[in-house]
Amino acid sequence: MLLDEPLSQHTSLKVGGTADCFVTPADVDDLQLLMALLDQNGASYLVIGGGYNLLVRDGGFCGVVISLRRLQRLEELSGSRVRVEAGVSNGALVRFTEEKSLAGLEFLCGIPGTVGGALAVNAGAHGEAVLEKVETLTTLKDGGVTVRRREELNFGYRHLTLAPGEIILTADFLLAAGDRREMEGRIEAFLAHRHSAQRVRYPNAGSFFKNPPGKQAWRLIDEAGLRGYRIGGAQVAEAHANFLVNRGRATAGDFIELAGLIKAKVRERTGITLEEEVRIVGEDRDQGSGNRDRQNQ
Ligand SMILES: Cc1cc2nc3c(=O)[nH]c(=O)nc-3n(C[C@H](O)[C@H](O)[C@H](O)COP(=O)(O)OP(=O)(O)OC[C@H]3O[C@@H](n4cnc5c(N)ncnc54)[C@H](O)[C@@H]3O)c2cc1C
Repeated sequence: MLLDEPLSQHTSLKVGGTADCFVTPADVDDLQLLMALLDQNGASYLVIGGGYNLLVRDGGFCGVVISLRRLQRLEELSGSRVRVEAGVSNGALVRFTEEKSLAGLEFLCGIPGTVGGALAVNAGAHGEAVLEKVETLTTLKDGGVTVRRREELNFGYRHLTLAPGEIILTADFLLAAGDRREMEGRIEAFLAHRHSAQRVRYPNAGSFFKNPPGKQAWRLIDEAGLRGYRIGGAQVAEAHANFLVNRGRATAGDFIELAGLIKAKVRERTGITLEEEVRIVGEDRDQGSGNRDRQNQ
């Protein structure tokens, strides 16, 4: 357990305050014990994966941040299925399915982060999204383990409805017998496309805003004249107008101000209100201590 742990070290934007407490449970049993303890004490908690879709405010997180990076089990089941724990990286999952010639998850290859994080936000690319491939999702909710089939889940574009504080433990993916060479070809093509479309050299969290229906957020931002616009250390990337980057010494406040300005300008110009894809958590700097309200995501 780490105290006053800087969350800038656990997020790809490299900003934000500290967590009162930062824990990394060894396995699911350990996590269940921890959750029982936190529930007894009414403590606030936030579960994180790789932190590639997270903006932590400058006041940090008042409570316990739980990293699931040690939940690393990954196994093949019968019937072209794999069972994956939340802390496994997307890259490791794609490599595993490639080795087993189980097709369907190649599109995940360039999306940084963990499977738990990908499921929580229904990450996707190239017209596919991760929850479409799920057979069952196992979560921890109010101290009990719940298993739901995909049909029972409420999900959509970059969205999954979870109960407050619900934690994804594992997913079973239903894949298809594939040809390994074809899979390798798809992975190479996806990575090459990403390499050319996202030449962003500074810390970022991928697309900052969701694409509004029928529109591309980067185009709306670009047309508002904001490519390259900078507030403090936060900047609209020159290489991709929907990526906000940390040019060094940025604060979370810089990103929040820049995001607010982008939303205002795009709304003024088009009437469209952009919605953040990046999850914004934690407290503002002047609220960083003493606020113990439950804020489980
Ligand atoms: C360069 C770059 C490119 C990217 N490209 C893409 C892309 O093409 N498509 C795309 O969809 N995203 C993309 N992203 C964003 C990011 O990689 C994905 O959203 C990824 O799935 C986040 O996973 P994570 O483990 O880092 O989650 P985190 O950022 O740690 O968490 C994200 C959210 O999920 C919650 N969460 C995490 N784990 C769990 C769990 N086990 N149970 C319950 N809730 C949980 C967190 O509380 C938080 O609200 C990109 C990011 C970068 C930096």
